[in-house]
This record gives sequence, C-alpha cells and structure tokens, in this order.
Amino acid sequence: MNNQDCIFCKIVAGEIPCFKICETDNILTFLDIGPVNKGHALVIPKVHYENIWDLPSELGQEILSTAQTAGDAIMKATGADGLNVIMNNNKAAGQLVFHAHFHLIPRFNEDGFQHWDQKEYDNMDEAQVLAQKIEKMITGIN
Ligand code: AMP
Ligand code: ZN
Repeated sequence: MNNQDCIFCKIVAGEIPCFKICETDNILTFLDIGPVNKGHALVIPKVHYENIWDLPSELGQEILSTAQTAGDAIMKATGADGLNVIMNNNKAAGQLVFHAHFHLIPRFNEDGFQHWDQKEYDNMDEAQVLAQKIEKMITGIN
C-alpha cells in the first residue's frame, strides 16, 4: 500500500519524474537528485515501508541483490574506486524521506570525504557489557 504524502510513492506511481536506472515488480532504482557524487542512486521497494524494521526480510534480500547488481554497474559507469551502501533509519540517523531506501554512493580515491568521527569505549568492560546487552535483546526478539 502506498502513502499519498510520500515523495517516493509518487515517483513509483509516475506522478513525479525520476532518472530511472532499472526496475522489477517490487523494486525501483533511480538517481538521487542531490548526489553525494555523480551516479549516487537509491534502491527502494515499490510498496511503502518506512524503515528497515518494516521491510519484509525477503524483500530486503531482493533489495540487497539489486544493490549488488546496480552498485557494480554504477562503479563501472562512473569509474568509481569504491561504493558506500547506506541506509538511514529514523530522523536521528539522517532519514529525511520516510520510505525505506538504500543509498548507492560511488566513491573515488581523492573525493575528499572522510570517515565519520569515531568514539572510544571507556574500557573493555563497557564494550563487553554492551555487546551482551545487545545479544540479550536479540534473544528477546527471537
Ligand atoms: P535520506 O536522508 O536517507 O532520507 O535520503 C533521502 C534522499 O532522497 C536524499 O539524498 C535526497 O537527495 C533524495 N531525494 C529526495 N527527493 C528526491 C527526488 N524527487 N528524486 C530523487 N531523489 C530524491
Ligand atoms: Zn512511500
């Protein structure tokens, strides 16, 4: 089911144009209109799901497979040296369009982007406790 207020649903419906790269019954891949580097593309499910947790896992696998194929093609077409595959989930993580999507961003050795700033754990105990806490959450979910 699609969402009337969603810009990506409008693209899927053909109400807003896009620079389409490829599509299947379930997935659309098109150029991001504000590319980090030229060739930056988005892979989206045609049905409106808000984020990674809403996506049915089979569809997620199909999207990942598309990301591999389209990512390879973007690398070749742009002569890129690398590729970021990124998904922003929730506002705090930079999500602006609340229709699940994966970014495929071609990267070049000298494109000037840096790795994000990293933090440090206070000590090994803190890291160990957190890893175990996360593991318990997974056990609780499954
Ligand atoms: P995010 O911050 O992960 O939600 O990214 C949303 C992305 O959608 C941004 O990189 C925008 O440039 C891109 N975007 C927004 N509107 C359009 C559009 N009409 N066509 C193509 N890309 C778009
Ligand atoms: Zn949508």
